[in-house]
Amino acid sequence: MVDPYELLSRELGAGRVLRSVEALEPYAQDESRLGVFPPDAAVLCESRAEIEIVLRLAAEHRIPVTPRGAGSGMTGGALPVRGGLVLSTERMKRIVEVSVDDRIAVVEPGVINADLQAAAEAEGMFYAPDPASLAFCSMGGNVAENAGGPRAFKYGVTRDWTLGMTVTLMGGETMKLGRRTPKGVTGYDLTALFVGSEGTFGVTSEITVKLIGRPEGVGTFIAVMPDAVAAGRAVSAIIRKGYRPRALELLDRAAIDHVRAKASFAFPAQAGAIVLVELDGEPDAMEAAVLRCGSVCEDEGAREVIVARDDADRERLWKTRRLVSPSLREAHAYKISEDIVVPPGSIAEMLRRADEIGARQRLLMATFGHAGDGNLHVNVLTDENHRDPEVAARIKAALGEIFRAALDLGGTLSGEHGIGIAKARYMAWEQSAEVIDWQKRLKRLWDPQELLNPGKIFAG
Ligand SMILES: Cc1cc2nc3c(=O)[nH]c(=O)nc-3n(C[C@H](O)[C@H](O)[C@H](O)COP(=O)(O)OP(=O)(O)OC[C@H]3O[C@@H](n4cnc5c(N)ncnc54)[C@H](O)[C@@H]3O)c2cc1C
Repeated sequence: MVDPYELLSRELGAGRVLRSVEALEPYAQDESRLGVFPPDAAVLCESRAEIEIVLRLAAEHRIPVTPRGAGSGMTGGALPVRGGLVLSTERMKRIVEVSVDDRIAVVEPGVINADLQAAAEAEGMFYAPDPASLAFCSMGGNVAENAGGPRAFKYGVTRDWTLGMTVTLMGGETMKLGRRTPKGVTGYDLTALFVGSEGTFGVTSEITVKLIGRPEGVGTFIAVMPDAVAAGRAVSAIIRKGYRPRALELLDRAAIDHVRAKASFAFPAQAGAIVLVELDGEPDAMEAAVLRCGSVCEDEGAREVIVARDDADRERLWKTRRLVSPSLREAHAYKISEDIVVPPGSIAEMLRRADEIGARQRLLMATFGHAGDGNLHVNVLTDENHRDPEVAARIKAALGEIFRAALDLGGTLSGEHGIGIAKARYMAWEQSAEVIDWQKRLKRLWDPQELLNPGKIFAG
């Protein structure tokens, strides 16, 4: 029988089908650090036609396929847990169109989020979804995970910005979903369904996103709070008073202390927690809005309000915020970042419970995240050997308690990182057996042989 990988090499060119152990190493892992799963091959696709060839051949030969963008996912979505081949869209980096008149951009899936932002801004336009990984994550991955970011509070997540896409199913059939108009309700909204499907329905080869005019005025400040509970109260007060910042972030003391040494923006020593607020709108109105919003934080106990003076200052502040996750990773032998969401009124209670869980399980905790949306990245950290069964049991118990706490408070398991393999076993804690079963039926509709990104989202 002909080796299917040989066939692929012949069809696409040998250089595009990687087989050696060294070449496959990067495709065996991702940023989740949930393990190393070497695939049998990695295929570097450069066009929709090539994706069709790969998915046709893979279906014929019953080879599992794992789509992959930049590998920055936090839940193991791009890990080829059942072997087979990794289909990488990292080379599909073309920004096909930026239309100011139609307020859209059309991109290939390998386009890096920050490159789309820059291309839109060069035309005076704005693409809002801004994951903290924006410098290196790809649009294909953003769409598959329905990525969020700080600006989701005002502007929503990737699904809210995705108008249409071209997807290829296992077997090689291609569908064009959605539209390029701002509005449209023709038929079922399959675009919305495919966004967030974690690469289990089809492989995206083109994405149409909406753009808006770039807000001209931006005002950014941090409120230095005595503790995380006061910070949670400040977040609630800002929203209650009718402000709609584009970002409303929270960092607890542990998160601040980890990033302090690297921070190009100096976080005050007495910070028990920080609320980072960014407003946008009319340039003339910004200064007054920042002052008023800052005084809401002072009413909730802010010790200091520090305003970014200019764009460079603002960029330093965001750079520091984006360094939190990598700093936690560098500082500890083991880190796992959770991504729970709680109703906004329960933020302070969730923060209290996270600390309690850390103390009970003798693990370090650091929490930061998109507090305006109730989306908290609770990081479980340890310098002990996490493979030691006793330590592993405490980590597992802590994660379970974090999820239980979030669900008890009326929350959800994931705000933006998806389920992947990391949270598959907890799905049944949140959703009924019937709801899970309907999702599995949907999956089988697009992929009856269950070959596309198998082993993800659902346990077993
Ligand atoms: C430091 C750091 C900060 C982060 N901050 C955020 C944040 O603020 N917000 C946030 O939402 N996420 C964040 N993430 C997580 C991650 O960056 C996002 O999930 C991102 O969307 C993944 O994109 P990627 O290109 O790296 O995808 P990958 O990791 O390669 O893949 C992710 C999923 O997408 C699927 N996929 C990829 N390309 C395609 C395609 N063309 N067609 C179909 N499926 C595809 C894969 O199969 C997989 O299931 C962060 C990660 C890191 C490391």
